[in-house]
Amino acid sequence: MLPTYAVTELLGDGIGAELSRAVHTLAEALPVHLDFSSVDLSLENRRRRGKAVYDDAVLSVTSHKVALKYPTVTAEESPNAILRRRLDLAVIHRPVYTIPGVTSHFHAPLEIEIIRIATGGTYDDPGRAIGADSAVSLRIVERKPVLEAARYAFELARKTGKRVTSASKYTVQRATDGLFEAVAKEVALRNADVPHNVELFDALLGKLVMTPERFQVILTLNEYGDFLSDLACGLVGSLGIGASANLAFDPSSNVRVALFDAAHGTAPDIQGKNLANPTAIFLALSMLLIQVGEVATGQAVKETVLDLLRDGTRTKDLGGTESTDSFTQAVAAEVSRRAPKASGTV
Ligand code: NAD
Repeated sequence: MLPTYAVTELLGDGIGAELSRAVHTLAEALPVHLDFSSVDLSLENRRRRGKAVYDDAVLSVTSHKVALKYPTVTAEESPNAILRRRLDLAVIHRPVYTIPGVTSHFHAPLEIEIIRIATGGTYDDPGRAIGADSAVSLRIVERKPVLEAARYAFELARKTGKRVTSASKYTVQRATDGLFEAVAKEVALRNADVPHNVELFDALLGKLVMTPERFQVILTLNEYGDFLSDLACGLVGSLGIGASANLAFDPSSNVRVALFDAAHGTAPDIQGKNLANPTAIFLALSMLLIQVGEVATGQAVKETVLDLLRDGTRTKDLGGTESTDSFTQAVAAEVSRRAPKASGTV
């Protein structure tokens, strides 16, 4: 009997249906059973059912603890923002690494884990005008999400033998970024076996481009993490192939729920044409498998996808000839050949 995991699947719009089919085909090839419960977050259903659809999503994700989300159209509201708030998702973990077969202007290999605090910074306050020619907004940094993110970053670094770099503008934003670095330092002191260094965020950007091998796990505040994610994705040549984990924590800072998604949107221009590239959602699935403890299987999914891309098995958006279906079949066949029969844990 295969180990079984209950997973919430948050269905979306555009190419979401094709990606979901691809995920199910791949899941069939895994040495684990993923018991999917789906909640329909498509625009049509959101318009028809309103708030109830989010109530269903929150209930399902909270009870299963892990979820895979497909892209959704941002129309009247942003489902991502609503889920982030209602599930109390505090940290966004975005691995960014060189993807073989993806053309880039940047030739050095890059492999970083961005741990971004999902709330606060300058993003929680839209600001207000003061008279005709001035405006002001509040910059918010809170100890709790910083502590959760820092603990998560150090734990990730310990498990993978990596270094943590905390990055902010603590010399200028003394109160807010000063608090962030003080909390990071507290956590660093309690995790003295994990190497840690501090960088000013602007200097980090330059150093990352010049000496990317110096950076491994980067812990940073909300807006800096947002900028850094796009820079890093640009360096590896694609804004669309990455995946993220969105995490909420319990009072002991253990992961309470984890929602995995692809970085790209609903791609309405290629919907229904069997052209969607499932790489990002497969990488999201790989992270989900690692989160539930199926580390070897999750790594087999990631490595298979990357190996196939490197060897030229690619969808059209990457200059290849594969369709969504044929790429998926290739990944599923190779994963079932490679994936261990017994589940692997760290
Ligand atoms: P998009 O990412 O959907 O598309 C940009 C371009 O990339 C298009 O040419 C598209 O065909 C291509 N593309 C995207 N994903 C692809 C894939 N998997 N395979 C092959 N090609 C792919 O961005 P957009 O057009 O700006 O946004 C469309 C909708 O998606 C908007 O409503 C936006 O709000 C929403 N969106 C949702 C999410 C999310 O739910 N996580 C993220 C981004 C955008």
